[in-house]
Amino acid sequence: MEYVTTVSWGNDSFAKGAYSHLAPGQCTRFAHAMAKPAGRLFFAGEDTAIVFSGMEGALESADRVVGEVIEVL
Ligand SMILES: Cc1cc2nc3c(=O)[nH]c(=O)nc-3n(C[C@H](O)[C@H](O)[C@H](O)COP(=O)(O)OP(=O)(O)OC[C@H]3O[C@@H](n4cnc5c(N)ncnc54)[C@H](O)[C@@H]3O)c2cc1C
Repeated sequence: MEYVTTVSWGNDSFAKGAYSHLAPGQCTRFAHAMAKPAGRLFFAGEDTAIVFSGMEGALESADRVVGEVIEVL
């Protein structure tokens, strides 16, 4: 395999970042509550993932929400 390039999305003036990360203190303040369903509202998305970040985190959260919806059906 041949090295091609490295991109810093954080230094890209149009992107300003890429992955979602909790800042110090946010885990204990509200991470446990972010993904909790509210009635018939269910919350997916990378920001609510526990294990993975990026697209894998988005898929992890989708997997969790499908289980939550199945439980109330
Ligand atoms: C520049 C960049 C590079 C990245 N590179 C990688 C990579 O190489 N590998 C990797 O795994 N991940 C990468 N990521 C991260 C990856 O794109 C995200 O983790 C992933 O897209 C998160 O998916 P999501 O479904 O949680 O949110 P999103 O993909 O952000 O989807 C949220 C959707 O909700 C819509 N929306 C927002 N508000 C509303 C509203 N009020 N009503 C209706 N719709 C709304 C938005 O338009 C959007 O379509 C990158 C991200 C960026 C920005």
